[in-house]
Amino acid sequence: MSAQKIPNKIWANSGDSHFVEPDDLFDNALPKALADRMPKSQKFEGYEIVTVDGLEFRRSMPKPGKDGQSMGDIVSQRAPGANNPELRLKDLDEEGIWAEVTFPSIGIWASSIQSRDLMDAGVKALNDWAHDYIMKASPRLVPTASLSLLDIDDAIREVERVAELGFRAAFLPTAPPKGQRPYNDIDTWDPLWTALEKNNMVLAFHIGTEPVDASKRTGVVFGGPGGAVLNYTYTTFGGQIATMQLITSGALDRHPNLRVLVSEGGATWGPFIGDRMNEGYRQHGIYVRPELSKPPKQFLYEQVYASFQHDESAVAAMQHMGWNNVMWGSDYPHLEGTYGHTQKTLHELFDDAPEAVRKRITVGAFNDLFPEVGPPPADEFI
Ligand code: MN
Repeated sequence: MSAQKIPNKIWANSGDSHFVEPDDLFDNALPKALADRMPKSQKFEGYEIVTVDGLEFRRSMPKPGKDGQSMGDIVSQRAPGANNPELRLKDLDEEGIWAEVTFPSIGIWASSIQSRDLMDAGVKALNDWAHDYIMKASPRLVPTASLSLLDIDDAIREVERVAELGFRAAFLPTAPPKGQRPYNDIDTWDPLWTALEKNNMVLAFHIGTEPVDASKRTGVVFGGPGGAVLNYTYTTFGGQIATMQLITSGALDRHPNLRVLVSEGGATWGPFIGDRMNEGYRQHGIYVRPELSKPPKQFLYEQVYASFQHDESAVAAMQHMGWNNVMWGSDYPHLEGTYGHTQKTLHELFDDAPEAVRKRITVGAFNDLFPEVGPPPADEFI
């Protein structure tokens, strides 16, 4: 029996949501020769075909669509604000979500582009659209900027440009584009981390965003019995690997003001990989390079944030394992998310938790990164 009073409606910020771009975004923003090669999705019964820069891959769809329906059609039937800021804010008010970080939808596949000019022009089109359509609609919406990672100078120029536009976070895929060095390559990536740190922009990874291989069904690593759950769970690991690469290569040590967000990947992995990295750093110390100024877990606990939606153990990662940077996320409008049952989920997660834990996970951790969204409405009690 909890001694505290629980508000009827729990207000929460969300570290994970998505906007569905209009189907004609690239046609309107780019010359036809470029627009035709940007990511496009076509829906069929139970699957979609995504084309990007000459690659074509199949993806299972959570729900059968009618042949030829666009992404916008399908998602907005389920979540009205998926591609409309005005309806989105109405959905957020009803669900009890105050502010949210928004990631792209079709734009997530831009990391699979193989040509530098196309990627550079494409991310600028995505970012200009996110600025005009999402950021200008409300200070409660915090869009992430996409970057052209095939060339780090391009990415840095775009960081400088979008910082001027008011962007506070950059979306990076959990693995770099093909042909690019891994995230623990210091010479390649440090200049970008410097640019993000200098411009006070959060480095936001979203799980399941590794570039795709030609002609593979993306997201399908395991076939056979259990495949759906195996594949779903497997998408989680990319965010953990990217985090480990940044910590062990010393990137977070060299950039103490850089903040990392790993969206949609749960939370108890933080204490777990923190322990593992500490053990490796200590027990294998004779092999370790670079040396760090603090144990690896401390960088994770101080500079890395994670969002989860339903995970039962996530609250304990903060309450009992000391990771203060756990935040909640809705994953609106996706099937894995909480749209339609957000309040039920929040009450299940927090009714038995101390108020300080609830406030930290629903509001405080998010506000460390994005204080400008302001506080949610005051709690109301019957
Ligand atoms: Mn998500």
